Amino acid sequence: MNGSAVWHPFTQHAVEPAPPAIARTDGAYLETRDGRHILDAISSWWVVTHGHRHPRIMEAIRNTTETLDQVIFAGLTHEPAEELASALVAMAPSGLDWVFYSDSGSTSVEVALKMALGYFRNIGAPRSRIVVMGQSYHGDTIGAMSVGARGVFNAAYEPLLFEVDTIPFPAAGREQATLDAFEALSRDGQTAALIVEPLVLGAGGMRMYRARVLAELRRIAERSGTLVIADEVMTGWGRTGTLFACEQAGISPDILCTSKGLTGGSLPLAATLATDAIFRAHYSTDRTRTFFHSSSYTANPIASAAALANVGIWKEEPVAERVAALSWMQSEKVARFSKDPRFENVRTKGTIAALDLRVGSAGYLAEVGPRLRAFFLERGLLVRPLGNVIYVLPPFCVTSDELDRLYETIDEAAALASDSR
Ligand code: PMP
Repeated sequence: MNGSAVWHPFTQHAVEPAPPAIARTDGAYLETRDGRHILDAISSWWVVTHGHRHPRIMEAIRNTTETLDQVIFAGLTHEPAEELASALVAMAPSGLDWVFYSDSGSTSVEVALKMALGYFRNIGAPRSRIVVMGQSYHGDTIGAMSVGARGVFNAAYEPLLFEVDTIPFPAAGREQATLDAFEALSRDGQTAALIVEPLVLGAGGMRMYRARVLAELRRIAERSGTLVIADEVMTGWGRTGTLFACEQAGISPDILCTSKGLTGGSLPLAATLATDAIFRAHYSTDRTRTFFHSSSYTANPIASAAALANVGIWKEEPVAERVAALSWMQSEKVARFSKDPRFENVRTKGTIAALDLRVGSAGYLAEVGPRLRAFFLERGLLVRPLGNVIYVLPPFCVTSDELDRLYETIDEAAALASDSR
């Protein structure tokens, strides 16, 4: 066990090698203690947007520590959180006027679900059904797991998960079945909320669907008074080509969850944005209608200042152009595999590219997954396939040459699949 006391996340310690220790991060790179440079092709689990240790974000963190650390956020407030909330309301899809802070993507989802149920209870028309999309992932806390796809990630905890109704993933050409299923679940007026990852299902295998489907789901929800929760934890902050993925469908959800890229990937912070109607349902002299949720580190001032610096970068640096350039490079470079029989489902959405290696057994536990990871790491590349799904989700500062090296290595890595058929 190497003398380490650390139990790592999503890690099978019995079969995985001791992890390299990272001593430094810079731009698109991680540097190990012994001086190896590793290209972070997955943005450290999708959080880093502009690159590691963006100077402006680091400076904001340093400066804030001169005056603030954690401050209880019930009954008190502070400038970084106030300014950030105003900025988020201005940047997010219209109609999202209130910002509730928490500290991780999963928590932002828990908050969203509680807001939805609280809304219907407080308006005196309780609803409890939650509708989810097949193959989704929304986090690892009990509520977030409950609204995610059932499978290997959560089989052991099944007895704790609450029931939801699932509409099928809208694969290309089969979108109508998804819309029909949602329509059917909307008829009895009992559906409180539909929760979706807009346009790209991340941990479910980087599955992508058309913006038009999201727009249609929104329309159906609106007709039946169902709330739409957009989980933009992964898709937000430019990942899919726009600041938020919902923009591409021209929709505003009732509730939007954001985390990961909110601080540019520097510190943990999350926000759940909600409409005025949802806030108003909780606004009352009757204190039983309070939104009863908090976590100790809610709206941490240093993390809020980091997020504000991120907002500043979006406003003052050509981030949209960088996102557009990276999106173009990704689609150009991954295209070499589109007719390659070793791969299938070659796809991109904004800065994300993904392709499925053809293997005998697919799925998250496909044997080829850990072997691919080791193969890439030996070559100085951090790539973490979801089973046989290889994806590239780099910080926006990655260069064309770095991507070329990465795709060249994906080409070489395909040979590993032949031993796994
Ligand atoms: N929602 C989505 C769409 C995610 O991709 C993730 C994390 N990968 C989460 C929620 C959970 O976020 P966290 O790991 O910060 O709890």
